[in-house]
Amino acid sequence: MAPVIYPTTNLTATEQLCLDRGEGIYVFDTDGNRYIEGLAGLWCTSLGYSNQELVDAIAGQLGKLPFTHMFGGKTHEPAMELANRLADMVPIEDPYFFFGNSGSDANDSHIKMLRYYFNAIGKPQKRKIITRDRGYHGVTVAAGALTSLPANLAHFDAPVEALDILRTASPHYYTGRQGNETETQFVDRILDELKQQILSEGPDTIAAMIVEPITGASGVIVPPEGYYEKLQDLLRQHDILVWSDEVICGFGRTGNDFGATTMGIKPDLMTFAKQLSSAYFPISAAVIPGWMYEAMIEPSNQVGVFGHGYTYSGHPAACAAALKTLEIYERDKIFEHAATVGDYLQAQLRERFSDHPLVGEVRGKGLIAALELVANKTTGQGFDGAVAGGFAMKACERNGLILRAVAGNSVALCPPLIITQSQVDDMLDSLSKGLEETWDHVRAEGLV
Ligand code: PMP
Repeated sequence: MAPVIYPTTNLTATEQLCLDRGEGIYVFDTDGNRYIEGLAGLWCTSLGYSNQELVDAIAGQLGKLPFTHMFGGKTHEPAMELANRLADMVPIEDPYFFFGNSGSDANDSHIKMLRYYFNAIGKPQKRKIITRDRGYHGVTVAAGALTSLPANLAHFDAPVEALDILRTASPHYYTGRQGNETETQFVDRILDELKQQILSEGPDTIAAMIVEPITGASGVIVPPEGYYEKLQDLLRQHDILVWSDEVICGFGRTGNDFGATTMGIKPDLMTFAKQLSSAYFPISAAVIPGWMYEAMIEPSNQVGVFGHGYTYSGHPAACAAALKTLEIYERDKIFEHAATVGDYLQAQLRERFSDHPLVGEVRGKGLIAALELVANKTTGQGFDGAVAGGFAMKACERNGLILRAVAGNSVALCPPLIITQSQVDDMLDSLSKGLEETWDHVRAEGLV
């Protein structure tokens, strides 16, 4: 094997899939086998794999000005144009954008900008950030502390405590409910726990709460009706900012422009990456409201140079990729398409898989979904270890569908936004075959 340290991989595993090329929603391995990319790469290749317009936009920019930085007074047109274009889209008043390269670094930037802002306005103690169990917000040392998945934290001894992160319950009713609790009772209980936590920590020590409108990597969790309305009331009452991590949900994934729109969230801060450029070039953006930026530049508040920036912040080719992506989203009505095909996917998933003996819950919105595989459908009892999810992922791959096992035994779907209804049918046919093989396997192994 080549001397590569593979990311988020069991380092002792030897089985590999080597991809060679892509076309539309399909990818092909080096043996020429075709797969539907049912997870759009890592929830990101929204416009599919052979978009020549994106290639041309990037190549054109590389040919003209392949690089310039944005430190100390330098700028360039693609970055300014991108910020202006995004400003017309985002549901934040008078927004400002800090560009980076990944979802993780954008979340790091937010942590630093929040501290910079509260230092500037003379409230340095307002620095804690609330995150949720099963949240995924990246893996750098700071953003990794916002992530609550065990594998991303274990064995690294990251200085999580030093970052003043508070954790609260995940809004997953299926796995989090107690006894016969209704959805409303569940929401009221977990939000009451959060309220007690806020009061005991002291609201004036808490800067913001980060949420993914619908969590992706931790299992595609759609919170119950009413959750966000009550959550936002609670946070506003205690002067805590609402931070929407749109790295997966942003740009059409849930059938609207942003996940915040779909879930009724009114964010103060937002994080973008992935579908911002359809993943053709790495780029991220940390978005803050104008009132926060104004306070950061107010002469009487000045705490010194804003000493934060990456070499590739606002990389010209990345900005060109993002600009062309946004243009295509609008011109080809990609979000509207995703909404229509998304409704079809959700309906078909429920119709075809709700009664499957392995499937405890079908969940999702728009073009993001998951099936929770359980050992006992009646009680909702899960498996010990990721035995079903891991097997299902491989079984689907053998049947021409790439998807991802998340949160142990959930299988997630998040295809490119350009997928058609008949391609959804093909994808679900492969999923069905993969699930039958998994069902045979768990029975043969005595796991159910
Ligand atoms: N936030 C969310 C919601 C994500 O899903 C991810 C990546 N899956 C990240 C942040 C981190 O993004 P990146 O991998 O680009 O650092």
